[in-house]
Order: sequence, then structure tokens, then C-alpha cells
Amino acid sequence: MINRQRITDEFARQAAIDSPSYQEAEIAAYLEQRFRQLGAEVSYDDAGPKIGSQSGNMLARLPGSKPGTPFLLSVHMDTVTPAENVEPVLTDGVFTSAGETILGADDKAGIVEIIEAIEVLKEHQIPHVPLEIVVTVCEEQGLLGAKHLDFSLLTAKQGVALDTTGVDVVINRAPAANRFKVDIFGHEAHAGVCPEQGISAIQVAGRAIARMPHGRIDDETTANIGTIEGGQASNIVPRQVSLQGEVRSHSTDKLRQQTELIVKALEEEVDKASIVVNGETKRAAMTLELKEDFPLMQVAEDAPVLKLIRAAGDALGRPQQIRAAGGGSDANIYNGQGIDMVILATGMDKVHTVNEQVKVDDLVKVTELLVEILRRA
Ligand SMILES: [Zn+2]
Repeated sequence: MINRQRITDEFARQAAIDSPSYQEAEIAAYLEQRFRQLGAEVSYDDAGPKIGSQSGNMLARLPGSKPGTPFLLSVHMDTVTPAENVEPVLTDGVFTSAGETILGADDKAGIVEIIEAIEVLKEHQIPHVPLEIVVTVCEEQGLLGAKHLDFSLLTAKQGVALDTTGVDVVINRAPAANRFKVDIFGHEAHAGVCPEQGISAIQVAGRAIARMPHGRIDDETTANIGTIEGGQASNIVPRQVSLQGEVRSHSTDKLRQQTELIVKALEEEVDKASIVVNGETKRAAMTLELKEDFPLMQVAEDAPVLKLIRAAGDALGRPQQIRAAGGGSDANIYNGQGIDMVILATGMDKVHTVNEQVKVDDLVKVTELLVEILRRA
């Protein structure tokens, strides 16, 4: 049923439109007319100006040919860099870039699979419920587009994001994450002449870090200090140091507990760091910016959307592997908004490198699965 030439042409066209994060105007204009051509009504939310992107998130609504609650499909239109003058090259059924840039199969493979699936639904008059298709911007910038998505525009309660490597793989769980930035302030002094008159911000940070949970905490939880930056010169007791770090967990309780342990280690070490100079007490201080980076994604094994995908895979003789992921994606944001969304593999490979690739065979296979899912949704 899948038109191999059509999907090949569609991918080549989209890959040749540069769309690094924030610069999505051109791909948005293309997709807007493409989805309209397919009979969808296309609109944008107001995320663009909020995040400094050329485009808002796109919502394409395709009327159903049978009644039912809309089913959600989600992809992202932005890519990582280098993405200047991307030239897709097709060799022996495999798309790569010409070599200097990424290919952008992440996430254009997913976009073309949705478009081809709709072509097939129409061509073969396969009954389907209404579709809500969201194409986010700035996914590669910490999910910025999805974080600013206007969820009041959506009525779907379940769906599929097409945005992971492999084929016949479904992600149903991904951790929640907290991110933090801490500034620790000590007091500067000459390191050789009067170090006792200073409080080393670096030493305070070091003591706190040594006490913190770090690395793999358990099979669900990780913690990391990713950057440390501060001090002025080797002969100055450093006045200030900044740390950035994160905690991730598949359990929101553990996420909270580990985050609290980190904050406690920092606060206690900062509290302890005080000196008396000429009868005057000097203390260390800190500021903490702590925020939820993304919420938990946890779709139950027996959730209707997973049953649907399993049944579709089985019908094609391709049992789907259900897995957990270690990273966050737009699907975390949807789940945080109460929408049961899992992630479907799109066939893309070696993503975020100039060796990125996707096989036409895999574009076809994923589209077959998607058509089967939509037929049953
Ligand atoms: Zn992606």
C-alpha cells in the first residue's frame, strides 16, 4: 500500500529544507501547505515569540472518516546542527547527508511517515478517527516548543510521538528530571598573604559535592554535576563558584528525595563555612535555581494506546518491543499534561552526527505500522 517513490521524494524534499532550532519558518511553510493539501486544517500556537523561534508549534487537524475521539500524532520540525545547506544523498536505499551536515531524519523521518500514512488512508479509503498532528519547534533545545505548547487546542487523550531510533521499538517510560544551577559565594583574600581572611567558594563547593548523591543512584535514578566554574587566579582565595547539575528518575519520589539530598549537602556546607576576621563574622552564601526540566513519562503496559500498537504490530507479524528510555522528549511533556503518549521508532539512525542516516525500507516499514495503528485507533 505504501508508495515507495512518493515517500522517498517526500523525504528528499524535506531533508533539503534546513530547519535548525529557532529557524523553522521555511519548513513550517512547506509543511503547512503539505498538510492542507491532504485536507487538514492547519494553525499555530503562540509559542514562537515566547521562545524566540521563527515559528510556533503547528497543529494540523485532519477530519475523521469515522466518528471517535481524535488520535494524536507528534513530531518535531527542528533539527540539531550543523544544518546549513543540507544535501540528502540516496545510495543503495539509504539516505545520508553529503557529509558536512546532519541529515535531519531526526525528526523528518517521522514527519514523512505521518504524511505517507495519511496519503495511504485517503487513497485506500481506510476509515479513521480524526487526527490531531502536532509538529513542535525547538525540541532539540530542551523541549522548548512542547513546554510552551498550547494544550487547550488539543482534545486527544492518547497518541504516538514518532521520534526514536530503530524499528518496531516503542518507548513507554522515560524519567522525570530536575535541573539546577547553584552559585556559592565565599570571600576573597590574598591566597599567599592572608588566606585565613578568606572563605574559598571552591572548597565549600568541593565539600558539598563530595557528600552529594552522584552517578547511578539505583536502577531508576541518576544524578550529575555537569559543570563547575569559578575563581579568578591561583593566588586569590576564590569568591564565587557556579555549579550546574541534574537528577533524573523513573520515580517522582526518588527524584524529589535525591534532589533534596543535593540541596541539603549544599546548604549545610555553606552554613558551616564561616570565619571571624577582626571580630567580625564572615559567612558563605548561596543562591539556588531549581526547576523541573521535564515530567515523568509512564504509560502503563495495559494502557489502550499500547494495546493498540501491540495489536497493530502483531497483525503485521512484527511484535513490538516495549522499552524504557533514559532521556526526556516531547512525550514527557504530553504525559505531564495527562495525555497517554508513547514514542514510536522511525528508522532514523546515528542521529545528532554527520553520519545520520535512514533506510527507505525502514520509512516504508514504519509507515505500514502507522497505517495499521490508525486503522485500529
Ligand atoms: Zn528527535
